[in-house]
Amino acid sequence: MPRTDFHEEKMHDFYYKKGELYCEKVRVAKILKKTGTPAYIYSYKTFTEHLAKLQKAFRAAKPLICYSVKANSNLAVLRALVGKGAGLDIVSGGELFRAKKAKCQGKKIVYAGVGKTPEEIREAIRARILLFNVESMPELEQINAIAKKMRKKVNVSLRINPNVDPHTHEYITTGKAETKFGIDFEKAREIFKDARRFTNALVSGVHVHIGSQIENGDPFVEAFRKILEFIDELQADGIKIRFLNLGGGLGAIYSDENPQTAEEFAGKILPLFKRRKFQLIFEPGRFIAANSGILATKVLYVKETDVKKFAIVDAGMNDFIRPAFYNAFHHIWPVVKNEKAPQWIYDVVGPICESGDFFAKDREILAVKPGDYLAIMTTGAYGFTMASNYNSRPRACEVMVRGGTFKIARKRETYQDLVRGERS
Ligand SMILES: *Cc1c(COP(=O)(O)O)cnc(C)c1O
Repeated sequence: MPRTDFHEEKMHDFYYKKGELYCEKVRVAKILKKTGTPAYIYSYKTFTEHLAKLQKAFRAAKPLICYSVKANSNLAVLRALVGKGAGLDIVSGGELFRAKKAKCQGKKIVYAGVGKTPEEIREAIRARILLFNVESMPELEQINAIAKKMRKKVNVSLRINPNVDPHTHEYITTGKAETKFGIDFEKAREIFKDARRFTNALVSGVHVHIGSQIENGDPFVEAFRKILEFIDELQADGIKIRFLNLGGGLGAIYSDENPQTAEEFAGKILPLFKRRKFQLIFEPGRFIAANSGILATKVLYVKETDVKKFAIVDAGMNDFIRPAFYNAFHHIWPVVKNEKAPQWIYDVVGPICESGDFFAKDREILAVKPGDYLAIMTTGAYGFTMASNYNSRPRACEVMVRGGTFKIARKRETYQDLVRGERS
């Protein structure tokens, strides 16, 4: 059976007191009584402390830490992190809209993604963002042409694909040659040599993001070494590099994996950049958000077959897709512990018409009955942001807990929300 405790370092603010699950100082069951289920519940403290861990570990290098909005884009989350000094890493016009709503200064916004539209590029230029992370030559031409038309100059970094295997899930691997991301060294070198041609898109930085949930520093070190060699060659040719954006990808703790702490990561990475003069940028998403949230759900039925016991719950893969999509492991904790209950082995499944609609398979948990609440742990990153309305299910509400209080950070959707904009 996988461990149900977490890393020795304090990873989050969800804990038991007298058999009741708490988020910070609020009983989770008390929140659910008000909100119903399914509900995402976030801890302000966990979010901001994870940011603080990175800020502290890297403070010697004075990096700009741009939280990756796609991990969890709720405005209450963005506000909390921006309020503590974070910038934001965005991948769409919609995320730019959120960044502005969260009052993030343009000069702390970096924009990545392989398919930025002309309208998105214009909006980002208008918002005076710090940097575009450019992923192809045609995109660079496009940004340059648009900036020229607007009579603006914008900074761009070239996203390099260093062809490094980060040893993570295939779907979240982004720095290998066969993925769609970034530009290879050869082509990037040509672009840099020819950079003066881009009069309005100032090619002034290098970006690298090799993947997500990377648990060990070695792939980072390998990628960053290659990048530094590349930069040295460029500088030997008289090309100036102002920004070095090292991306995100730092792993979070989901079960018994033991990814490095921010301190360990910094210990491996920072020596590489000693005496270098670039502005370093990081784009952490999962590391900050994953442990900061849970998805609370209610058991609807317990169904027994000859071979299995199913706990059927009211959250589905539309609410949280990581198990279905990546076969991801998430702990499942009772919201109220019945210590006298026996342990049973369940498949914890949702109501959706797909066999992939599960949260755990053959998992030993305390016996449950209809009406019991369960918490799917470590769902603060790539949880709500990947939710859909599949099976015409309104999306869950989101709750932000801070100390002894909580607020609804996003209302549960209604049936009317489901058909908004539709015509019959
Ligand atoms: C998704 C993404 C990130 C964040 O990745 P995490 O693994 O959540 O830290 C950072 N940078 C870019 C370009 C991304 O696409």
